Amino acid sequence: MTADPVAIARDLVRCRSVTPEEGGALTYMQGLLQQAGFAVHRAVFDEPGTAAIDNLYARIGTAKPNLVFAGHTDVVPAGNEASWAHPPFAGEVANDLLYGRGAVDMKGGIASFVAAALDYLSANNGTPKGSLSLLITGDEESVAVNGTVKLLQWAAGRGEKFDHCILGEPSNVEVVGDTIKAGRRGSLNGTLIVRGRQGHVAYPDRADNPIRGLTTLIAALQAPLDQGSEHFAPSNLEFTSVDVGNPTVNLIPGEARARFNIRYNDRHSQTSLKTLIEHRAQAAASGRVHYAFDWQQSNAEVFVTKPGPFTDLAVSAIADVTGRRPKLSTSGGTSDARFIKDYCPVLEFGLVGQTMHAVDECTPIADLVTLTAIYRRIIDKYFG
Ligand SMILES: [Zn+2]
Repeated sequence: MTADPVAIARDLVRCRSVTPEEGGALTYMQGLLQQAGFAVHRAVFDEPGTAAIDNLYARIGTAKPNLVFAGHTDVVPAGNEASWAHPPFAGEVANDLLYGRGAVDMKGGIASFVAAALDYLSANNGTPKGSLSLLITGDEESVAVNGTVKLLQWAAGRGEKFDHCILGEPSNVEVVGDTIKAGRRGSLNGTLIVRGRQGHVAYPDRADNPIRGLTTLIAALQAPLDQGSEHFAPSNLEFTSVDVGNPTVNLIPGEARARFNIRYNDRHSQTSLKTLIEHRAQAAASGRVHYAFDWQQSNAEVFVTKPGPFTDLAVSAIADVTGRRPKLSTSGGTSDARFIKDYCPVLEFGLVGQTMHAVDECTPIADLVTLTAIYRRIIDKYFG
């Protein structure tokens, strides 16, 4: 039974699993895990307007507690493959680095966990003291509708219970062991639409230019949303596009729009945020600007995994292996942790994120070895 994270990571990188393609990655995982005694299930989910996606759930052991590792084998496209010095799906090793799309995000993380789990099992007569599970999706990098969110529901429907989860996303900033992600901000998208009256620029009194109203509201909505909270930086509203689409030089347009995104902390919910934004717009408009908001549906609620025994266990495992005490961070974009947090406490810890989604994505071989040792230590401590 191989427990070499580098070999596993190379094999996974060689699978062309660009979302929504399975690319052989889950089949490879299935073979590896079944050989080690895991019960492996595949579940394909689809929904009108989206591609069907293959997912995997594996478990060994029936006792509590059930420690679950979550991750995704899908990767973002390589872009222009000719611009890579090392082909994106070759899994080349050069100068002690493993190159390829997904090396960091997050086939390397999965490989490290699988290697740690196999090593733990062979040291413990092939059975964990509780249960070890893996929730692996093929739909994280794209729309994420046929992945973890449905896989969790599917597992719950079978009576699966999870006690704690490690999500293997690349959480570290500079070096393995510097950062655990213990929460994520929420994300909400909206469009502000201001309606005026179209007319000739030479006769502005006969028209009502919506751009004036739009700039008034944009200015008002950029006021700070809060001062941050115990675990989070201040929330932020960022305008991402201002659109009039008027090709004519002597025409006052009838409508103007601005799109924005809000990354918000635990001082808000989506409902309270919408209310706050709409109040601010109403005050700034003071009855003179005709506007409306179009809020996009969002499944990215804010959450935080508060410090406690599980966090302490992960921190001390990292310190044992690396000598570093990781920072607990809630920065960055959203991840599948937003879905997992409804089932059990979740921490994100994986490789160093610097080259993720970039040309010549790569991870030091040494990081794969270190991460494997950390996961191994976490499993040991977890089953005490
Ligand atoms: Zn990822």
